[in-house]
Amino acid sequence: MTAARPRIGVLALQGDVREHLTALRSVGADAIPVRRESELADLDGLVIPGGESTTIVKLAQHFDLLEPLRKRISDGLPTYGSCAGMILLADRIVGGAVDQETFGGIDMTVRRNAFGRQIESFEEPVHVEGVAGAPVTAVFIRAPWVEDVGGGAEVLARVTSGPAAGRVVGIRQGHLLATSFHPELTGDARVHGYFVDMVRNVLGKSAELPTTKSEDSAVTARTGR
Ligand code: GLN
Repeated sequence: MTAARPRIGVLALQGDVREHLTALRSVGADAIPVRRESELADLDGLVIPGGESTTIVKLAQHFDLLEPLRKRISDGLPTYGSCAGMILLADRIVGGAVDQETFGGIDMTVRRNAFGRQIESFEEPVHVEGVAGAPVTAVFIRAPWVEDVGGGAEVLARVTSGPAAGRVVGIRQGHLLATSFHPELTGDARVHGYFVDMVRNVLGKSAELPTTKSEDSAVTARTGR
């Protein structure tokens, strides 16, 4: 584990795992698929892919991952969710299956299949705050949008045209990032680069933490100085 090549897991229960692995590797991460609780332990970051949020959450329950994932995410593991992954990072959802659970973490309400079933998929250029250069080509597939943003969350991207203009489709709250769209499908890894920078920042901060008194005395005990 080094800050230069952070170790980032892609939750590999269902969805477009391989595309995220490829995008993460292209921006300098050591990316691995994760399916077991033990594999969460030494991650520096996590990606929750697009797919079907109901299926991902059911499989997480089946593999006893739901609570461990909730804990790691709320304890500060940098996590990025795209599409179904955005739904899973929401504290509240509307249009979900009955009693649909999420991992939670971002203080927002997300509407599933928000663009309407008749609009299965579409793409449009979207400016993402913090991502330099031309707008990102945002691919939406049965996508959610953020209906309500809580106090701690920061809007990064909105739909720019059409009937959904102004809808929030990119958001960040501290160590958590979510997009309604799928940058992993475009070959443009700038959003993944933004996320890997978030992970590096967290790693940099923990490396800077001053040693505590007890660690100091443990060193003294070991070295005799
Ligand atoms: N509509 C899907 C869901 O509810 C998300 C679609 C996607 O990830 N492309 O989980």
